[in-house]
Amino acid sequence: MNPTNRRNFLFRAVAPVAGGFLFPSLSRAVQEASSPYRRPKIKITDVRTAEVRVHGYQVHVRIYTDQGIVGQGEGTDAIQGGVPLINSFRRLLIGQDPLNIEAAFERIRTAGIFAGAQGGQYLAALTAVEIALWDVAGRALGLPIYQLMGGKVRDRVRVYADSGARDMVPGDERSIARIHEIQKMGFTAAKIDIDDPADPARFDRVNWTASNGEIDRMIATVGFTRGLYPKNIDLAVDMHGRYDATTGKRVAKEMEPFKLLWLEEPVPAENIDAMRDIRQSTKTPICCGENVYLRHGFREILEKRAVDIIMPDLQKVGGLLEGRKIADMAHAYYVPFAPHCVVSPIGTMASAHVCAAVPNFLTLEWHWIDSLPLWKGFVKEGEIFDKGFITLPDRPGIGVEMNEEMARKVQVPGTPWFEPTKGA
Ligand code: MG
Repeated sequence: MNPTNRRNFLFRAVAPVAGGFLFPSLSRAVQEASSPYRRPKIKITDVRTAEVRVHGYQVHVRIYTDQGIVGQGEGTDAIQGGVPLINSFRRLLIGQDPLNIEAAFERIRTAGIFAGAQGGQYLAALTAVEIALWDVAGRALGLPIYQLMGGKVRDRVRVYADSGARDMVPGDERSIARIHEIQKMGFTAAKIDIDDPADPARFDRVNWTASNGEIDRMIATVGFTRGLYPKNIDLAVDMHGRYDATTGKRVAKEMEPFKLLWLEEPVPAENIDAMRDIRQSTKTPICCGENVYLRHGFREILEKRAVDIIMPDLQKVGGLLEGRKIADMAHAYYVPFAPHCVVSPIGTMASAHVCAAVPNFLTLEWHWIDSLPLWKGFVKEGEIFDKGFITLPDRPGIGVEMNEEMARKVQVPGTPWFEPTKGA
């Protein structure tokens, strides 16, 4: 049947049923009259920010709409100084439909190809906006974000406690108290740092090679901590990418008897071959990725089997959907997904929606143990943890609301607090 005949045939087939409507009006009828389901008509009217400093620097973004719906997002670490970037995105957001999140992401990212849109501050700023768009979408559609990420594969998300600024010193009373505190809160996994620039055994403060004395201190610290936690609590150890490949291999080997959950960034993540050499040299699982951006940053890490576990930070990697895509890429290599997370209950809950939706999720970081009263009061819902787990709320969007009175206590002095941008 040629195309003209085919059209005539279809028209004859449909016309009697549709009462003689032409196709465009039939289409309209199906979309607007015969269906009870209506896609919300909604436009972005404003984008505003607030800056806080807690564990590092965080920027909170609010996206306002003509339907009165406001979405919130949070970016961290690389976002310091990112507010002018977010303001520069306004021209690509205002007047647009906030439900077309992928389109907004692509528009802003590709607009910045020559302005650093491959990583760092630009991506952290875009991430905060992307999360706020998901919150708008959830609220507009009346669904939690996990539902928009493919639905949940688990009801609750396992969180691990980073021991915070006072890291472990063997035999030290405060260290013992901190371990007991983490246990009492019900966590089933914890993380400590073993890099110490002030270690007197260091060759010098900038040296990349650990001395024997330094490695002995690392082993003693992990032995002490592992010995205090019961066996059913997993322990991860972070080296913050501050050492050379030789040290990385030596430490990974020494850690084998402790059966760690992972050894994090013995070398920086940017030399993927060096990371892979360490992974291939040891039985200790190796993890990296908190300073890697986008799917593009994780592609070679996964292709070269450079690590056992990936840990993108969903408040700077490119956003929640980018996080979901990275998790899916990792799953094709049977690599678990354990997001880095140092943000407020708003960003932590946003990350939890992705963690609930991906099969290969392992555990999510929490790093506010040094700011417990602030943590418990930062959102109106109060504490979001239940014995080291987050149960996903069924409320629309992220599902938590900022308690402004508490959040303003950590506002960066002299910065706007969700005020309209002057001259914008
Ligand atoms: Mg780390």
